[in-house]
Amino acid sequence: MGKRVAISACLMGKRCRYDASDNRDSKLLGKLESYELIPFCPEDFCFGTPRPTMDLIETPKGKRAISNLTGADLSEPLMDYARRFFETYPDIELFIGKDRSPSCGVCSARLYDRQKRLLSSSQSGLMAQEAIDRGIESHDAESFIAANPSPPITGD
Ligand code: SF4
Repeated sequence: MGKRVAISACLMGKRCRYDASDNRDSKLLGKLESYELIPFCPEDFCFGTPRPTMDLIETPKGKRAISNLTGADLSEPLMDYARRFFETYPDIELFIGKDRSPSCGVCSARLYDRQKRLLSSSQSGLMAQEAIDRGIESHDAESFIAANPSPPITGD
């Protein structure tokens, strides 16, 4: 087996998005064929599927995941899941997260203030932040695809 890669489960076709859909990405999976893929979904594990959406909000406690339904701070279980995931798989060498997710986006998550004004579109979600803090090479799925183009078909 090749190196171990942590990957957002929805990118592999698991129907674990908030609305029980998936983000299966065949192009991405083709580029990861030689790797051992370890899927994760912090939001499904912590809150089930389907579930209300959440956003990253800048608060006095820092960047937090706040429920769009209740306003509750959902960060602690998500961060606890992330810590336990990387403790379970200490040999993860690469992290591929779903773009723009408040949990999994690597440098594409949106951060808002309490009035829902956009502060940044280049943040890390809470699970991705844990990967980055541990020094794991981390990429959004879309940028990973862009950085690893398919070889040209030569016809030989
Ligand atoms: S982006 Fe992350 S939290 Fe959202 S469904 Fe995919 S794996 Fe789960």
